[in-house]
Amino acid sequence: MAVLINDECIACGACEAECPNNAIYEADKPWVMGGVEYPSLNDTHTYIAPEKCTECVGFFDEPQCIPACPTEAIVMDPDKQETKEQLMAKKEKLDQVGR
Ligand code: SF4
Repeated sequence: MAVLINDECIACGACEAECPNNAIYEADKPWVMGGVEYPSLNDTHTYIAPEKCTECVGFFDEPQCIPACPTEAIVMDPDKQETKEQLMAKKEKLDQVGR
């Protein structure tokens, strides 16, 4: 994951529809990959499941959620950088197991 949603989030949901990986979830809702549910990663605002975010690699040149956010709450995470190859491998895994 190199994209995260911070506390500026107002939970409007504008970003959710933009994600080609279905990586964005409402607060308190479980995230899902390959038909398996995993516990929510945030109980106060919309969040991104790191295992599913490819920074839109494989679909678009730029992350689609960042410009969709009206409060600029979606930012690159400097602590979790991945190479394009790693992000593409993540995308291909999602192609196989399901989003
Ligand atoms: Fe989804 Fe792309 Fe945003 Fe990652 S950067 S959460 S893949 S829209």
